[in-house]
Amino acid sequence: MATSSNALQYFGKPIMSLNPKRTIGELKELRNLTGDDNGAQRVAWTDTWLKAREWFQSKIKGLPVQHHYDAAGNSWTTLPGASEKTLILGGHLDSVPNGGWLDGSLGVTASLEVLRRFADEFNGRPPVTVRLVDWADEEGARFGRSLLGSSAFAGTSSIQADRGRTDKDGIRLEDAVARCGFPIDRFPEAKIEQKNAAAYLELHIEQGPVLERMELPLGVVLGTKGVERHAITFFGQEAHSGSTPMDARHDALAAAAKLALEIRTIAGKHKDAVCTIGSVKTFPGIVTAVVGRCEATLDQRDLDAQILAAMYREAQEASQRFAREEKCTAEWSRIWSIEPIAFHPALLGFCEEAVRDVSGAAHRLPSGPLHDAAEVARSGIPAVMMFVQSLRGISHNKIEDTREEHLEMSVQALDRLATKAARWILDPAAH
Ligand SMILES: [Zn+2]
Repeated sequence: MATSSNALQYFGKPIMSLNPKRTIGELKELRNLTGDDNGAQRVAWTDTWLKAREWFQSKIKGLPVQHHYDAAGNSWTTLPGASEKTLILGGHLDSVPNGGWLDGSLGVTASLEVLRRFADEFNGRPPVTVRLVDWADEEGARFGRSLLGSSAFAGTSSIQADRGRTDKDGIRLEDAVARCGFPIDRFPEAKIEQKNAAAYLELHIEQGPVLERMELPLGVVLGTKGVERHAITFFGQEAHSGSTPMDARHDALAAAAKLALEIRTIAGKHKDAVCTIGSVKTFPGIVTAVVGRCEATLDQRDLDAQILAAMYREAQEASQRFAREEKCTAEWSRIWSIEPIAFHPALLGFCEEAVRDVSGAAHRLPSGPLHDAAEVARSGIPAVMMFVQSLRGISHNKIEDTREEHLEMSVQALDRLATKAARWILDPAAH
């Protein structure tokens, strides 16, 4: 077994085999195999998703690795190293229906390229153990439960709440996962994969317009924003649209509409905060009646827990004010919430170095969407993400795209980050 000091010297050798063009070729291969005219169709627990995973297995043939699926269906490819301490690289092969070719799959294919480089450079036995994980059902596209596999790994899954979920055809999540060989009652056993995990890295497309606007290919992700998601119901009074004078109305939609505009002011006070009223339903919802009841949903996000809490409070106060103005009442109920999750400071530093080395400038930005990396971080494993620019900021759409030169840079930067993280795992004090 190599001592850690010998191992550290190995890291000084030049990178031999990294081939980012191969990653782009593999992404296109996967697109052709699992997409159609409407985009990627790798929805988790479907035959097309299983086909994508078989394809991945064909790619690791001949590498000095071991492969297995854990109890929650996450796919693990392990390159054993001199140390059991483990560097994990991750992504997800599943997509939304009519999805893009890069969301999730870039993380898997780029990680595979880095794994190959580690295997090659260290003759099949790197100083640290390197694992690639393809998380099961990141998107939650079919059953409405995102981060399913990574939450089982992290121990934050909610089996009782999830097992009865159904897809649009009435098929239960419990049955869909069992069909693929993963009984839901065993999902918590996926926690065992945390053993020896020392760092987690994930490369992902940004899925937003920030890096493109700044003309930067790559970005360092600070963490994932916390989310407050609520249903707000305004109660007024249904009344005839012809006979009810304007000053006698209790118009529930008018109160909701005021709130829909106010949240722009509430979010606008903070640099990266976002607030969205994504759904409004009116009752009775006919052209000849004043709206007696209006159900709206509000989604608020920020990386700072205090800012998020303040925005939530302000929206509540504003809703009560507008309800009074419109002679209505307002009731709130929480749909879902998650705290902001900050990535690891040391890994953020390495990510910044890697991004700067490859692209010349490093910008730090929060992630609005949640990612598997957030679940990993919640489990206490140091984690960080890197973003590569998304053209037009579009994702979850067949037109999702990134310049090939940027994709190549992202593979290079992930590789550099992996080397820095591996050194740190062996000798945290030296960094
Ligand atoms: Zn994704």
